[in-house]
Amino acid sequence: MKRILIPFLSIVTFAWLGALIATPAPAGATTAWMLRQQALYLTGLWSISLMSLIMVLATRPTWLEAPLGGMDQVYRLHKQAGILAVAFAAAHWLIEMSDDILKAVFGREGRIFNDRNGGFLAMMQDVGEELGEWAIYALLAMLAITLWRRFPYHIWRYAHHAMPVLYLMLVVHAVFLAPATWWAAPVGWMSAALMLAGSTAGMMSLAGRIGRKRRVSGSIESVRDCGGGVTEVRCLLAPQWQGHRAGQFAFVSFDDIEGAHPFTIACADRGDRRIEFQIKALGDYTRQLGTGLRPGQTVSVEGPYGRFDYRRASPRAQQIWVAGGIGITPFLAWLESLLAAPAKAPQAALYYCTRCSDSDPFVPRLQAMCARLPSIQLHVVSADRDAPLTADQLHQHHRATRRTELWFCGPRPFADALREGMATLGMGDVRFHQEAFEMR
Ligand SMILES: Cc1cc2nc3c(=O)[nH]c(=O)nc-3n(C[C@H](O)[C@H](O)[C@H](O)COP(=O)(O)OP(=O)(O)OC[C@H]3O[C@@H](n4cnc5c(N)ncnc54)[C@H](O)[C@@H]3O)c2cc1C
Repeated sequence: MKRILIPFLSIVTFAWLGALIATPAPAGATTAWMLRQQALYLTGLWSISLMSLIMVLATRPTWLEAPLGGMDQVYRLHKQAGILAVAFAAAHWLIEMSDDILKAVFGREGRIFNDRNGGFLAMMQDVGEELGEWAIYALLAMLAITLWRRFPYHIWRYAHHAMPVLYLMLVVHAVFLAPATWWAAPVGWMSAALMLAGSTAGMMSLAGRIGRKRRVSGSIESVRDCGGGVTEVRCLLAPQWQGHRAGQFAFVSFDDIEGAHPFTIACADRGDRRIEFQIKALGDYTRQLGTGLRPGQTVSVEGPYGRFDYRRASPRAQQIWVAGGIGITPFLAWLESLLAAPAKAPQAALYYCTRCSDSDPFVPRLQAMCARLPSIQLHVVSADRDAPLTADQLHQHHRATRRTELWFCGPRPFADALREGMATLGMGDVRFHQEAFEMR
């Protein structure tokens, strides 16, 4: 995500630099007070620019899926930009609070005063200051509960709905407290465009319009307990459903109060608007899903999203597919789609890592499908019997003489260990594609 955030922040910094060079320093200002003033502006500009980006990313822009590599990656960028934005907002607030320290160290001489001639503008500047201060406290609290993994997700999600309101408060703060000279310079035009885009996105979010065009209703056809804490849910969707590519996911809502959860569509597109989900009991809601769902119940499905698709890879590259636990779902969809034309299936090694292969509900299905797909070698790695899959083993079995495309879906620490291990072993030209099953 650095490849997006570094250029983005560089452009913002250049715009600020342009304004700094073009604007003469206030008469009598000393270096210390000048530095404080510009640091205040720059941290504020970084923060509001990143927040505008975050708001746009929160609208689930499908046009960004191709450049970023899927909606899960859009959310990753959203999260990383969010952490940075709050860090800059906190720095901005600390610099604002540094007044008394600077007075004690450098004296009052050379201070820079804001132009406040009274009237509407001065009143709005006071309002902007108040709003900014409260919004920063709320943002810091939001960041703390985001990073505190044990904080319940469903409460976090409701709290997160307040973000557009906080953003709009910060827009008022930025509009009335940015230097007036900025609005006649590129930095002001850039900020105005970003804040306009961010405010539009915020309004869309508050009006509940995000993803509305991709939302289709349907009904549950069957619910089956597959064992191992996995529930299979089959749904029939309304005619508006446009179909999906194997490996994509959707936001699925079985209950209006609970809201939507992302689940991979664990089957190929059969062209009959029937889709299936394999849902593992991983948390509060998914744990009671198996007993709570009934055939005939309505469902709302928003999607499809995602770019987890082996066909994006170079045809000459060797393919390694690795699934950990419920991360097998996109591969189930891939295998089923390949069964339509087994001769056209790519050469690939599929590693399925599970706790216990004897009781795993997916193993018989994988074995049956791979028996009909001779180019796919299935390796089941059962934790109760086998050594865990490591980069070292992949290196031994797939020593790269050519490019390797590694498709991974599973727990993040497992992905990190494989990625780092492969880099350390110097496993040649490896492209690591990861479907992130986490959005927070
Ligand atoms: C792209 C993608 C595809 C997924 N595919 C599957 C799948 O095929 N099968 C499967 O079993 N699981 C899948 N998951 C994971 C699944 O979404 C979570 O396990 C589920 O939402 C947990 O809900 P909970 O309330 O039971 O758990 P909680 O304990 O409340 O949450 C556990 C974690 O799940 C995530 N989560 C919870 N609710 C949401 C939500 N509404 N939106 C986004 N993330 C949420 C958060 O990271 C949270 O920290 C997928 C996740 C993503 C992002």
